[in-house]
Amino acid sequence: MTLTGRETARPGEKNEMNCPVFWKTSNEDVKQLYEGARRAEKSILTYSAGGRPVYLFAYGRSNEHEPKKANWSSALGSKDPTCYSDPATKTPTLVLIGAEHGQETEGTAALLNLVSLLETGKDLGGIANDALSDLCENIRLVIVPIANPDGRSRVKPAAILGLKQYDLRYWGQGTWKDGSLCGWPECKKIHPILDAVDFLGGYYNDDGINLMHDDFFDPKAKETKALLDLCERECADIVIHLHGGGDSKGNLMQTSYMSEPAKAIVEKLAGCCYERGKAEDLEFVGPHACSLDDGPVPGAFNLASATHHKCGAVSFVYESNECIVDEPGPKLSHEQVTRMHMIVFEETLKVLHKREYRYI
Ligand SMILES: [Zn+2]
Repeated sequence: MTLTGRETARPGEKNEMNCPVFWKTSNEDVKQLYEGARRAEKSILTYSAGGRPVYLFAYGRSNEHEPKKANWSSALGSKDPTCYSDPATKTPTLVLIGAEHGQETEGTAALLNLVSLLETGKDLGGIANDALSDLCENIRLVIVPIANPDGRSRVKPAAILGLKQYDLRYWGQGTWKDGSLCGWPECKKIHPILDAVDFLGGYYNDDGINLMHDDFFDPKAKETKALLDLCERECADIVIHLHGGGDSKGNLMQTSYMSEPAKAIVEKLAGCCYERGKAEDLEFVGPHACSLDDGPVPGAFNLASATHHKCGAVSFVYESNECIVDEPGPKLSHEQVTRMHMIVFEETLKVLHKREYRYI
């Protein structure tokens, strides 16, 4: 499909798209919940390239008091990973990160509903989820609703759901100097992309850096470094990077560069979510985690892989359906998209409670 015109683009238009009241996804929405939160440990993780705060909510007992004798790499080298973090004494820890790409608002909507549930016992639609609330007990839960507030600020629609492929590409990857769409994956051919574009899409921070493909041995974005440091500081056991894909089904994606035991956890979770989805008529891709590593070019060492190597966490991308109207794939409601996130959270929390996440 060639998409070069502006026929369906609506730059500057605020698109509420009949979003239900519980669908809150803007930087301002996060700020309001942050200011109103009473149970959370609140902090600003960092400021973006554009000077915007990256808000952080945390619940449960922190692991920061745990003795840490070695970093993750050295602990593995010693053949004793407990030198980094001891599962026998630490609190099982889940880190949830939304909107590393600013136009992928589905994860942010889910995370703000989760924050509301933790704060009030009800989500933003006023509905309780006792099963999920119970699963959050005795867990360290760390939530970053919008990791890339610069990108999010550039994206006017509150949701991509119900829009067209052109809109997704326009708001997501932006346009080259000649006005044509940068597109995916061609948008990754120049990085940082800032000087090559007319409209900088929601993928990037204000310096044109795609956090998923930063230089992880020398991060160029403060946001990237702060996210990695957060996962290390918290001794994260599982980290979920919440993304969106135009026409994909709910997709737990296998991480390219991760230990086999960690990959096995993602595979297990994919199967659990698939079965849960079937029972509720919600489509996950299948009983196996989706891998991008098929083909002649190796998979990228992206932020999900880097997270694993920073702290040993099982780290993966959950790619939500974005329900693009002119693409194949399921067309779900905002409620269904959010529900699928909650299934992923619930199944992940069950794994944490069973302490199945470490390989020692
Ligand atoms: Zn993404």
